[in-house]
Amino acid sequence: MKRENIRNFAIIAHIDHGKSTLADRIMEQTKTVSERELSAQLLDSMAVEQTHGVTVKARSVRNFYHGADGQEYEYNLIDTPGHVDFSDEVAKSLAASDGAILLVDATQGVQAQTIANLRLAIKYNLKIIPVINKIDNVAADIAATEKQLRKLRPEFASRPILKISAKTGQNVHQVLEAIYQEIPAPTGEPTAALKALVFDSQYDPYQGIIADIRVFDGHLQTKQKLQLMGHDSSFTAQSIGIFNPDMKAVPTLTTGEVGYLVTGLKDVQALQVGETITTTAHPATTAIPNFKPAQSMVYAGLFPKGETSYEELKQAISKLALNDTSFHYKPEQSEALDAGFRCGFLGIFHLQIIKERLRTEYHVEVLTTAPNATYQVYLKNQQPQGEYLTITNPVEFPDFAIIDHVCESFVKAIITTPNTYLSAVMKLCEEHYGELLDIDNQQDLVTLTYKLPVSEIAYNFFNSLKSLTHGYATLDTEFLDYEPVDIVKIQTQINYAPVDALDILVPRQQADQIAHKLVEKLKYAIPRRLYPMPVQAIIENKVIARVDVPPLRKNAAVNGEQRSISKKQQLLRRQSLNKRQAARSDIKLPQSVFDAVLNLD
Ligand code: GDP
Ligand code: MG
Repeated sequence: MKRENIRNFAIIAHIDHGKSTLADRIMEQTKTVSERELSAQLLDSMAVEQTHGVTVKARSVRNFYHGADGQEYEYNLIDTPGHVDFSDEVAKSLAASDGAILLVDATQGVQAQTIANLRLAIKYNLKIIPVINKIDNVAADIAATEKQLRKLRPEFASRPILKISAKTGQNVHQVLEAIYQEIPAPTGEPTAALKALVFDSQYDPYQGIIADIRVFDGHLQTKQKLQLMGHDSSFTAQSIGIFNPDMKAVPTLTTGEVGYLVTGLKDVQALQVGETITTTAHPATTAIPNFKPAQSMVYAGLFPKGETSYEELKQAISKLALNDTSFHYKPEQSEALDAGFRCGFLGIFHLQIIKERLRTEYHVEVLTTAPNATYQVYLKNQQPQGEYLTITNPVEFPDFAIIDHVCESFVKAIITTPNTYLSAVMKLCEEHYGELLDIDNQQDLVTLTYKLPVSEIAYNFFNSLKSLTHGYATLDTEFLDYEPVDIVKIQTQINYAPVDALDILVPRQQADQIAHKLVEKLKYAIPRRLYPMPVQAIIENKVIARVDVPPLRKNAAVNGEQRSISKKQQLLRRQSLNKRQAARSDIKLPQSVFDAVLNLD
């Protein structure tokens, strides 16, 4: 297809506003699929098939549309899976698009995710077509929805706003017409060196990494020798193709086109989303600047649990990391938990999702340690001056005696919430030491921008925000900077043995209080033994708090009256032996112990 007749676009919407239904109608009206095939929602059903052995999921679907202007167009509909709360998920699709259909449900009007998605689309310079959906619904308030939409952007004020029913198909042809009329054709140089953006990737056990790509310059051909910009290693394009909606091999993908590339690469770390592919014969000189994956904000340890082996966990984690650009991992060896991984996440909610995906998609069980933020630690007498240690694991936090000062990462948190919850959301941010940077009213919705320390949003912030606003608020975070903070490490000893996996970093002012809460929580979370076990929280070499985990049965040493003296002495002897041998704890820590550390407020 000639470049002028290609259109690459995404559909963005608040959840349930009809994105999948409209995608189905577009595929149906362009005869990409027949009505019969559409009995189940296609883009969604592919996700289901995935769990039944079909490993490759369509991220873009090529449709052909005969415009009323007599021309034929190639419409590449790029799926935006996931959730706008993980803006990376949406952003990587938008990075491959030139336009977006902004869909709003007429029964609900503009919602927080409508705004958050719109903000991303603007960030990626997309042409936006506002569309009102569900006009067939008796509860639709089309006029009110139109009014809201018009106020959202200056350019929406006087333009036509399409009103459709994705369900019945009413006026969907108007959307199809608007796509070629309004969304620009892809730019790029067909004769230049190849530049293709990897906007997503998947792993197939037989074919290796299969990348979703958009060609920005040049041509991509089967059997071409390729390399990633900035890397030396090369690989061969095993096959290339498109989804329509099934995988279909094609000999060439030209400038502006979207499709897949079977790389044959079996090392899942060999190719990252956001990278630029070029040819080894005529390499391009600059990468596509379009998409920068978000940095991990919080880190936690993931360790195999139950039947799961380290190898199984490793396989699962590496595949998962392939298409989740904000999830990072590296091996970690813990004294208490053995071999596992130190992993980076966007936040605690992201961690929960990853844990859930590992269980349901990869069938592995993991134990997660309490998450923490990233710290820069400056040491006393550091040579050369200005160098610091980057700490993502409390175990590696240096001894307090040699620390000069510590800086913590801060983020810009952009929260969109219905007006009703404004004061509750502001209160939440203030409780978490947020500093208000900006406030922007959009009728019934408000967008707040706060500066917040990562450690404050790493734990319950997201869940609190969601529950305060009944799920209506959205949160997007961007890294801001590092600033000095006063942080100390709390170390925990169980039965006199240090348990490295329980190390946590906390603000000094709250350290005592947290230490006391911690031991109280652990008292009930640690599996009991026949004898009482002391749990101690230690800060800067001082025991700050201590409790005893009660024994399974009554302790002979305490309630020994009815027992023989020798029994009592035997127990006492064993307890003191414990104390001396306690170099390493032999207690198997269940998840509840780490959850106890998480829920300290
Ligand atoms: P998504 O979350 O944005 O992908 O939303 P879906 O496409 O899954 O739609 C959510 C619900 O709205 C489904 O039950 C659809 O059948 C329904 N729906 C979507 N479009 C329309 C429409 O135009 N009219 C009506 N009445 N319902 C619709
Ligand atoms: Mg959907």
